[in-house]
Amino acid sequence: MKKCIVLSLLAVLIALLALLSGCNNTAKTDPPAPSAPTSAPDSEQSEEKFEFPENGVLALMGDGHVEGVIDGKNPSLDGTKLVVVFTFAKEKAGLDLEEATPIHYTFRKSDGSVVEGQAPLDSSVDAIKNDYGYVGVCFDMGFSIDLYDKVSFDLSFKDKSGKEFSVKEKSIFKGICYYGLDAASFDAKLGDKVSTMVAKNMIRQTATVNGTDFSLTIGLNKWAQRTSPEQIVTLSQLFWECYPRMHARFGEAGESPVDVQLNVENEGYEIASASGNSVHLYDGWLADHPSDFDCITHELAHVIQNGWDGSYCEYSGYIERFADACRYIYAFDGGRINDEVWELQTVSSENTRETSVRFLVWMDYTYSTEEVDLLLNFFTVCRSEKYHKDNWKKAWQEILKGTDLEGKDIEVIWKEYESSEFAKLSSKGRNGISQLSKKYPIREKYE
Ligand SMILES: [Zn+2]
Repeated sequence: MKKCIVLSLLAVLIALLALLSGCNNTAKTDPPAPSAPTSAPDSEQSEEKFEFPENGVLALMGDGHVEGVIDGKNPSLDGTKLVVVFTFAKEKAGLDLEEATPIHYTFRKSDGSVVEGQAPLDSSVDAIKNDYGYVGVCFDMGFSIDLYDKVSFDLSFKDKSGKEFSVKEKSIFKGICYYGLDAASFDAKLGDKVSTMVAKNMIRQTATVNGTDFSLTIGLNKWAQRTSPEQIVTLSQLFWECYPRMHARFGEAGESPVDVQLNVENEGYEIASASGNSVHLYDGWLADHPSDFDCITHELAHVIQNGWDGSYCEYSGYIERFADACRYIYAFDGGRINDEVWELQTVSSENTRETSVRFLVWMDYTYSTEEVDLLLNFFTVCRSEKYHKDNWKKAWQEILKGTDLEGKDIEVIWKEYESSEFAKLSSKGRNGISQLSKKYPIREKYE
C-alpha cells in the first residue's frame, strides 16, 4: 500500500511534467511509461487482474492533497485540467475505461458556488494508467483554482462494462491550505467554539469567550513555511487559551484590544515583538526553538498593556517584568512547554526589585485576595499614568491598599520576599511541575 502511494506520487509528478510540456493535446499511443504505478514484473503478468465490485467508491490519493498536481508552493496547475490519481487497495488494479469516458463532476467552491457538469476523460496523461488499466482520471474542469483556495468535489463515471464508480467529498487545496492550514485542522484542536476562516495569506478566527467577542488574525504574507503548519495551529491554541484569560483580568483597565493580529514573518530577526494590537513572530524562531511558544504569551501581555509609558512606572523595566509575570502565570497548557525552557530567576540570581519578575508573581500569589487584586492594581497604576516614576511611594500605597501589605514600605516587603522560600525554589520543570509549582500552585489560582 505504501509502495503504491509512493509509486502513484511518482506517477503524478510525471503527469505534471507531461502537463507542463504541453503534450496532453494529442491522442496517446505510446505504451505506458516504465515507471507507471503498480506495473508488475513480468513473472507476475499472468496473474489475473483485480475485478472491481459494482458501484465502487474510489479513494483519492493523498486524501485532499493531490500532491504535485496542485501545489501551493509552485502552482503548476495554471490551466483548468485536473488530474486525480486513485489509491487502490489492490496493487494489480486498474479500471477499464473507454477513451473520452464522460466524467461527471460537482465542484463546490469556497465562495459557496457549485459547478456541475461533465467532461470527457483526457487519456493522454501517463499517470492515470498502468498495465491493468486506469488508476486515475484527467479532465478539464472548466475553471482554474485560485491560489489559497480550496475546492471540494464529487466525481462519477462508468467503466466499459457499465459499472459506476465515484469519488466523494474530496478536496483540492492551493496555497496555505495545501500546507495543512485549512479550517478543519484548527477545528480539530480548538473545537467548535472558535470559528476559522482561511483566506489569502491569512487566517481569521473569531470566538466569544465569557461574553467577550475576540478575533485573532494570523497574517502569513511573509510566512516562508519555517514555522510549521502544526506550530501555527498551536499558536492559535495558545492565543485562545491565554489571551482571553489575561483580558478578563486586565482588559478593562487596559482598554485592551479584543482583535489581535499575529504575523508570522520571515524578516525582522528578533524573536518577537508587539506593537498596538499586532504581534510579530520571526518565522525562523520556532523552527530553531520549538519549545519557546510562550514568547508569544509574553507578547500578548504587551498587547494587554496597550502602551504603558515607562516614565510612569517606578522602573521602565516594569513593562517587561509584567509581561514576563504573565508569561509565567498564564503560560500555555499550564506551563507544560514553557517551564522546560524558561524560568523565573531565583533571588540568588537576581537581586533587585527592578529586575525581579518573581517578586511580582510572589506579591500577587501571596497577597491578592478575592476582594483585592494586587497585580491588577499594579497594572492599573502603570496604565493610568497617574504617578510619575519619581513619585512611586504613593503609587505603591495605592497598589497595596486593602491587602495585608497595606502601609508597608516596599523595601521592607522586598526583604520579606528575599527571605521567603518562594524566592528560592526552581521554577524549571517538565509538564508544568517544578519545585516552585509543587509548593505554590500559582497557576491554579487563575484557572
Ligand atoms: Zn517584551
